[in-house]
Amino acid sequence: MNIKNLFRDKKAVFSFEIFPPKTTSSIQTIYNTLEDLKGLSPDYISVTYGAGGSVKNSKTIELSSLIKNKYGIEAVSHLTCINLDKKDVKYYLREFEKNNIENILALRGDIDIGSKIIGELDHANELIKYINDNGNFNIAAACYPEGHIEHKGLYREIESMKRKEYSGASYFISQLFFDNNLYYNFQDEVRAANINLPIEAGIMPVTNKKQIERILSLSGASFPNKFKKIIDKYEHNPEALRDAGIAYAVEQIVDLISTGVDGIHLYIMNNPYIAQKITKSIESILLTVNKI
Ligand code: FAD
Repeated sequence: MNIKNLFRDKKAVFSFEIFPPKTTSSIQTIYNTLEDLKGLSPDYISVTYGAGGSVKNSKTIELSSLIKNKYGIEAVSHLTCINLDKKDVKYYLREFEKNNIENILALRGDIDIGSKIIGELDHANELIKYINDNGNFNIAAACYPEGHIEHKGLYREIESMKRKEYSGASYFISQLFFDNNLYYNFQDEVRAANINLPIEAGIMPVTNKKQIERILSLSGASFPNKFKKIIDKYEHNPEALRDAGIAYAVEQIVDLISTGVDGIHLYIMNNPYIAQKITKSIESILLTVNKI
């Protein structure tokens, strides 16, 4: 199914993001997780792409195919371009077609120290155009409610989103954020700039202190005082911190859905417990807004 149509049919789309097992591990290690996620009936599951593995042995395609063809859930495969040449991108597109995968989240990828940069496709908008020119896929793109870490602020971000829309993206998935007011401000600016594609809000439930430090350094997301107090209070009690992190994410989601967000994309870190807790807490809210 083309995910673009979901936004036409539903008021609030609800999706999960997971990552594939390490290249040395079997895909079977994730079967139980997928069984649990299937019971939660997400609208789709997206699968991250790690630049580390070999092109011909991508667990992203294998896992996306499993989600779609064995578990019957719609799949979105992430694909990054700075580490691939055009021939490799074409290889992936043919593999997606063979595996019945219709939806791609097209990304540049992070520029890490020591990472290989190919230079044939330098930005996500170039990848989006290349995919459109070489196949028939529905393409999602990333957006950053607080601006991308390399160019903080919304002016550059909105220019970047325009390029992605112009190149053929059909919807956006946002970077995680912890302050809904920043998201609403971003959404207003995007709509004022005449970008009308649906945007799914990316929410990450924070469940341990080490995780938060890593996330903040990677994403540059603001860390509201209210949330900082929660982390400081429970940092030495893993169960309390986990529950508080889940409750914080639920509060964000209820507010976002009630304010009319196009969708929620939940970064579940392959943890079905977290996915279950959050989904159960918002089930009736989703049913109500989607009038099912
Ligand atoms: P771009 O759109 O290329 O933007 C990167 C920077 O360049 C921005 O600062 C932008 O303002 C600027 N820019 C954009 N276009 C141009 C242009 N044409 N000319 C000049 N400057 C430009 N990474 C992974 O490795 N694997 C994943 O699976 C993955 N999944 C993600 C999922 C989501 C929902 C999000 C939000 C991010 C994900 N990332 C993933 C991280 C992503 O790869 C990084 O954030 C990366 O740094 C930027 O990717 P982009 O597609 O937004 O790049």
